[in-house]
Amino acid sequence: MVAMSVSDRAGLPRVLSLAQPTADSLHLGNFLGALRQWVPLQDDHDAFYGVADLHALTVEAEPAVRVDRSLRSAAQMLAAGVDPQRSTVFLQSHVPEHTQLMWVLATMTGFGQASRMTQFKDKSARFGADATNVGLFTYPVLMAADILLYQADRVPVGEDQRQHLELTRDLAVRFNGRHGTTFVVPEPHILPSVGRIADLADPSAKMSKTSSSPSGIVELLDEPKVNIKKIRSAVTDSEREIEFDEERKPGVANLLTILSALTGTSVEVLVKELAGRGYGDLKGAVADAVTAFATPYRERTLELMGERTELQAILADGADRARAVASATVAEVYRKIGLVQPRI
Ligand code: AMP
Repeated sequence: MVAMSVSDRAGLPRVLSLAQPTADSLHLGNFLGALRQWVPLQDDHDAFYGVADLHALTVEAEPAVRVDRSLRSAAQMLAAGVDPQRSTVFLQSHVPEHTQLMWVLATMTGFGQASRMTQFKDKSARFGADATNVGLFTYPVLMAADILLYQADRVPVGEDQRQHLELTRDLAVRFNGRHGTTFVVPEPHILPSVGRIADLADPSAKMSKTSSSPSGIVELLDEPKVNIKKIRSAVTDSEREIEFDEERKPGVANLLTILSALTGTSVEVLVKELAGRGYGDLKGAVADAVTAFATPYRERTLELMGERTELQAILADGADRARAVASATVAEVYRKIGLVQPRI
């Protein structure tokens, strides 16, 4: 296929997805659940991929750490295969229209509906009301703005974002109903097989930057030997057979899911190939597959981090392209809801 440049992309369906820079590295769940889908979608979509640095403000961090994490996240997107010649890669904070649209959408979101968001309920229950900021509560509304600004047709995300996508769709339909067709109503692009990669140490929980213990999370920029050790210590069960049963054997099912996603071999074939072997063999195969993919990924990310001027130039160019789309959406929204235009 001949690569298309950004200027040739008009008319293609739009895709948008962001990832938060809330840790020093993206983890295996981010990669398999979201980032890996981003790469092939570039072939036949006008893609917008961003670093959600405004969402990340809901989690405390030193300013210098934030800068490093944001650039690392962008570098990891490129290392995973996002091509800035074809896709628009940007930092959310470089496009002020995200917060402008968020405010409008916030005034259309019922307090009851926002209160039902399970991610907020889980996090606020875990941290307590005093340690929970209002930004965390309004996070799904900012996410709706992220998506609707770009008139995205599809949003490749993990299963944990399904409810937020539903809110986004509701808001788009509500706005269109009140003010005439304005927003594309986006479809989630969630792959059931990899939509929820589990924590290695607690397979009943999802792998998460903010809640997994260090032993439960595969940080892609860690030294390969660190991740090999974690995979070899992954929690399984007291049985011996390698079978895919998410209810009875969630740890083994998670390892099979990871291995299948990284090798492209179906779970059924893997189960046959591993028949009669032990959990140690399965863990060894997963460790090899993760190392084979993460080693060049890590090297490329570190290389890109050493080319900061080029990296920032890619992001500045991405911000210009993102703003061209986002500012047109906000202008239309402002006009339709009755905000006076600055010039006649
Ligand atoms: P975040 O930066 O936390 O919003 O995550 C970035 C992307 O990774 C989102 O699309 C999430 O839905 C996805 N994601 C996060 N954790 C997991 C997981 N454990 N399994 C699959 N996808 C995930």
